Amino acid sequence: ILPTVQGNIELSQVEFEYEPGRPALKGINLNVKAGQSIALVGHTGSGKSTIINLLCRFYDISNGTITIDGHNVRDVSISSLRSQIGIVLQDTFIFSGTIRENIRFGRLDATDEEVEFTAKAVRAHDFIMQLPQGYDTEVQERGSMLSMGQRQLISFARALLADPRILILDEATASIDTETELKIQEALKTLLAGRTSFIIAHRLSTIRGADKIVVLEHGVIKEQGTHEEL
Ligand code: ATP
Ligand code: MG
Repeated sequence: ILPTVQGNIELSQVEFEYEPGRPALKGINLNVKAGQSIALVGHTGSGKSTIINLLCRFYDISNGTITIDGHNVRDVSISSLRSQIGIVLQDTFIFSGTIRENIRFGRLDATDEEVEFTAKAVRAHDFIMQLPQGYDTEVQERGSMLSMGQRQLISFARALLADPRILILDEATASIDTETELKIQEALKTLLAGRTSFIIAHRLSTIRGADKIVVLEHGVIKEQGTHEEL
């Protein structure tokens, strides 16, 4: 069992191959202090998602170690590991049900007040109130009645309510208008505060805001540093 963590993460000489002889990650060393946000950037196939896959143990590492607060992820139960990691995927998962149910997913004990509080925190409250039944509005599977940006804000509210120590975010590539982008950046700041986060980043604004940028190329870290350093 992984005890409640601060969120210090260390990858040491991490190697991984999905198929024998075709390494997806080679000699990855990365030290992340609790509360830091890491932007993972690099071309398609460079290994960004693989780092996330190993951290969450969707796959088991071939060589090297990943530790969280000093605990090797291999030595803890998968459920206790994942209970402390929140994942916001690019293809935001909206299911058929009310907006409230969608936000509450992952913390079913949350009160209506808590749901609204988090929605306000990520600036989703205003558009929700403009929907026909507010928080009780039924959305269809995949959230077809919502815009891409609105779906993102719902998933941010969901993640904020769940309040994990470690957050993983696969940022959407789709272009959104400047106003929505600003809103999302603001919401992101709220969501990331006080958590360790890994963001597969596509937007320059996100990359700029990260504490550390890690540039991957063909499974190795090509460079890492702050936006100013790189
Ligand atoms: P993208 O920006 O396209 O999402 P990425 O940086 O996330 O790319 P990864 O998904 O980490 O890249 O892939 C790294 C390498 O591992 C690539 O060569 C890819 O083809 C390979 N790979 C990824 N997933 C699998 C898999 N399930 N089975 C076999 N090979 C895989
Ligand atoms: Mg990927």
